[in-house]
Amino acid sequence: MDKTVGVLGGGQLGRMLGAAASLLNVKVVILDVGDNAPAKQVISHHATSTLSHIDGSFTDPDKIRELASQVDILTVEIEHVDVNVLEEVQKSRGLAVHPGPSTIRIIQDKFLQKKHLLSKSLPVSEFLQVDSTVESIHAAAHTLGLPLMLKSRTLAYDGRGNFVLRDLSQAQAALEFLNNRPLYAEKWVQFIKEIAVMVVRNTAGEVISYPVVETVHKDNICHLVFAPLRSADPGLPARARAVAEAAIRSFEGAGVFGVEMFLLSDGTIYVNEIAPRPHNSGHYTIEACETSQYENHLRAILSLPLGSTALKVPSSAMLNLIGVSSNIADLNPVLNAALATPGASIHLYGKSESRKGRKMGHITIVADSDAQLRERLRPLLQTLPSTEP
Ligand code: ATP
Ligand code: MG
Ligand code: MG
Repeated sequence: MDKTVGVLGGGQLGRMLGAAASLLNVKVVILDVGDNAPAKQVISHHATSTLSHIDGSFTDPDKIRELASQVDILTVEIEHVDVNVLEEVQKSRGLAVHPGPSTIRIIQDKFLQKKHLLSKSLPVSEFLQVDSTVESIHAAAHTLGLPLMLKSRTLAYDGRGNFVLRDLSQAQAALEFLNNRPLYAEKWVQFIKEIAVMVVRNTAGEVISYPVVETVHKDNICHLVFAPLRSADPGLPARARAVAEAAIRSFEGAGVFGVEMFLLSDGTIYVNEIAPRPHNSGHYTIEACETSQYENHLRAILSLPLGSTALKVPSSAMLNLIGVSSNIADLNPVLNAALATPGASIHLYGKSESRKGRKMGHITIVADSDAQLRERLRPLLQTLPSTEP
């Protein structure tokens, strides 16, 4: 593979993308702060190579230009990047940027993203623009009811831009919590399950999807993923995949995308949000599918044939390892349990510091049946560190 890929962001997604790239002899250059970012640890450049990772922010225009000067294709492992510069290097250098800057621009603003999906007749729950004032929040609560989900339009992840308004008196507290950032409001969705689908689109516009998974969140952070989704409704997986694929067809550019959805008791599906990159709900694909989301992302942006997205095991689960304190040794009991569990694969991300609520790694378990999966998962859940203070 003679193309070099530049990645904006060097976290765990870049690290796993780098691991997949190394198997294909695809060269990868990372832009992120520090020399020891998780992705940089696993992608080394030979001393004679002209390539070198870049120490800087993926929002710094000059650093993005420097990255662009070294590579043939730019991609992202995070959507909170400077899109104007991506557009500039795409035009001035004729560099391929995947997914397209216009896609990242829409998705990085969750309000624009929801408006886009609505305009394409995709199913989304009701939402409203709100100003960062108590009066505007009250007006939104009047229209959409309580509880009301207030969300920061930008820079959101792991629920950190979300505030659940249960009572009108909390409006001021919500503004303070959300740092007076630009906001919008969503009607509260009484879902029975959260589900997700990874979708891949190649440079020719061909779209394929992975199996539907169930995602279980704890404190707004993805805690567990079960693949495939089990449902009494035999038509549900095909419907969910069709929604996810249609959502991705509405955007430009190639790559893998995560589509998070809500499932309601009457079978209604709403799109919650889209990630224009590999996604936590697709980690399981490394061990459980014929081709991982990371490899398919590379195949998609390099115009190689896409790999099969089929499951190669009957049942699988992914458990996120979330930091509970500054002490990474908190995770030792669950790691030891995983080492003793057949079918369990540990992925640690090499983060320099542990923090409460930080994603430090994950464990994927594969099994011959759901019963065996539950049996293998049980000792891991029992040894997870407590999140209580
Ligand atoms: P991510 O880390 O997935 O990017 P995020 O910060 O972008 O997270 P969301 O996905 O918008 O946040 O919301 C986080 C979680 O909050 C969802 O997975 C879901 O559990 C809950 N949630 C979000 N929107 C709603 C809603 N309108 N009604 C009820 N629950 C919601
Ligand atoms: Mg998000
Ligand atoms: Mg989300």
